[in-house]
Amino acid sequence: NTFADIDLGEVLNQNIRRCKYVKPTPVQRHAIPIALGGRDLMACAQTGSGKTAAFCFPIISGIMREQYVQRPRVARTVYPLALILSPTRELSGQIHEEAKKFSYQTGVKVVVAYGGASINQQLRELERGVDILVATPGRLVDLLERARVSLQMIRYLALDEADRMLDMGFEPQIRKIVEQMDMPNRGVRQTMLFSATFPREIQRLASDFLSNYIFLAV
Ligand code: AMP
Repeated sequence: NTFADIDLGEVLNQNIRRCKYVKPTPVQRHAIPIALGGRDLMACAQTGSGKTAAFCFPIISGIMREQYVQRPRVARTVYPLALILSPTRELSGQIHEEAKKFSYQTGVKVVVAYGGASINQQLRELERGVDILVATPGRLVDLLERARVSLQMIRYLALDEADRMLDMGFEPQIRKIVEQMDMPNRGVRQTMLFSATFPREIQRLASDFLSNYIFLAV
């Protein structure tokens, strides 16, 4: 019933203590062990439930093991290992801030890219290296079209507030994004979908993007 009971490793546990998290929230208590076990996950979670940490901890823990994998060397193209998609610039910014705290002293690099801000600044940031990319769908499609980001090496995908992304009309962009990581990666990628509601469209996304997933409602 504490974070120490979950097998996240000493560095992450230190960061969790530094964030003053003592007890995992219900979504964290259930989602983190499932994700650490490698399963795909669709979780019902509202804002304020602690969902950001629920998908960040397993991703950071996995990337700590995998960040040294060989990535292709193509001029000006970066190959993140994890992607966190979120609907808005504000939410992406918040996830980025939290993910940076959680990954302190892990060597895991987190970069954010959203619309409505200078793309050149974000490109410079990306060029310094990226393990976890936090992005809004529109800006990511732009980066993919410029061939500045490749999703070929993606091992972890988290879709945050998936229902809101669909409400905002991002489904075509999301499908385009996920298609790019499907071909080279089938069977390798672990996917986590978080949504406050589960209308038919979200269930369809889940059956298209997740494999053999666990449904979690807390
Ligand atoms: P979220 O639902 O991820 O936006 O998190 C809501 C707020 O709760 C954020 O300010 C988090 O930093 C905080 N939080 C998340 N998990 C915990 C926890 N286990 N203990 C205390 N605070 C937490």
